[in-house]
Amino acid sequence: MKRRKILKSLSTLPLIGTLPFQSVNLTTTPLKKKRDIIQELGIRSFINAAGTLTYMSGCIMDEEVVETIENTSRHFCMIDEVQDKVGAKIAEFVHAEAAMVSCGAFSAMTLGLAGILTGLDIRKVEQLPHLEGTGMKSEVICQKSHNERYNHAFLNTGCTVVEVETIEDVRKAVNEKTALLHFLNIQTNEGKIKHEEWVALGKALQIPTSIDIAADVPPVSNLWKFNDMGFDLVFISGGKAMRGPQSAGILMGKKDLIAAARLNAPPRGFTIARGHKVNKEEILGMYVALEKFISGDHEREWKTWEARIAQIEGALKDLAGITTKVVVPELGNITPTLTISWDENIVKLTGRELRDHLRAGNPSIEAGFGGLPLYHYQAGSDSVDPAIAETLKGANLIRVTGWMLQPGEDKIVARRIREELSKATTVKS
Ligand SMILES: *Cc1c(COP(=O)(O)O)cnc(C)c1O
Repeated sequence: MKRRKILKSLSTLPLIGTLPFQSVNLTTTPLKKKRDIIQELGIRSFINAAGTLTYMSGCIMDEEVVETIENTSRHFCMIDEVQDKVGAKIAEFVHAEAAMVSCGAFSAMTLGLAGILTGLDIRKVEQLPHLEGTGMKSEVICQKSHNERYNHAFLNTGCTVVEVETIEDVRKAVNEKTALLHFLNIQTNEGKIKHEEWVALGKALQIPTSIDIAADVPPVSNLWKFNDMGFDLVFISGGKAMRGPQSAGILMGKKDLIAAARLNAPPRGFTIARGHKVNKEEILGMYVALEKFISGDHEREWKTWEARIAQIEGALKDLAGITTKVVVPELGNITPTLTISWDENIVKLTGRELRDHLRAGNPSIEAGFGGLPLYHYQAGSDSVDPAIAETLKGANLIRVTGWMLQPGEDKIVARRIREELSKATTVKS
């Protein structure tokens, strides 16, 4: 009998309260099943064919990361000592002078800028986010096409973001209030000024430069590329392709800036970033995730992702009116991405409807949006952004990736997409 059934039958006995419960020995019975809290609360879990999206809980952590979290959870440690030791190791891995584990890439942005503003002055740390009359700088400069929603992380320090387009614009915009020149890697191609020029500008004008590479591994070399290039601060997410904790990321860069960022970070509680708490389990989990990612067999993993996509693509080959295409984004979320589109005269279904059907099926599956730049698709849920939702309504395509699928799930996704497309096809193949 299953444990739940035993409990159920016990609970129907009138004498339940007086039963010597321990003697039933439920806790050591080999029949004991692990508690399934997701099912217990009726939360939907699903196959993730969309990607490393925060609103879908990001990634499945690497098993060694979970083990690390479990093992370290039974010990007390001083948070600052954990950050010191982990930071030194991470810095070595990524060719930076120093590093710290933050509460995600967004947190790294806030902390990095806070450090620039305050230096090691505790009084200034306490004054943030109020900058006026403090002598602290108050402006971040970035290219117009790089001023995406995640720059809100900078506003949390009290700073404003100033948009520029050309090198000349930067020279004109810089003044005594300029704290940082920020670059968004995923938008590199949309901007007139490229990495090296940006770093050179910072050096010439003596203003720190930073780069957001939150979703830019693989390739693994991006972990050190921008430190080598001379950016003073680099921000990356831990819970995307690195499969670390979703609530962790890494801030890396110049020693004095990281030290100042640390002063603005927990465990200190007089700061704007006390809410960016990362406990020892996550800091150590992040470290193990990074270590595993760096030593991983990326070629093999890439082939696995391709094979999963090929499985799905292959299942749709003989269906009428279907077009499939595999693309690898040049920047950000660099993984084989399958676009499935169809002739709306043959398949009577919108991309939105197909995604809804996959979501409502058994097992539930999440697929990606179609028709939008991957950056937007990655940045937020269609259910919370009316502009995106509107664009998606009519689009007759979806996107699928294999990197967040668990072994065997590619076959299920292939079967389900085929089923739904076949059902909506007006032409019998
Ligand atoms: C995901 C992402 C972020 C936010 O990263 P978190 O680790 O979730 O805080 C910032 N910038 C870009 C470009 C991203 O893709």
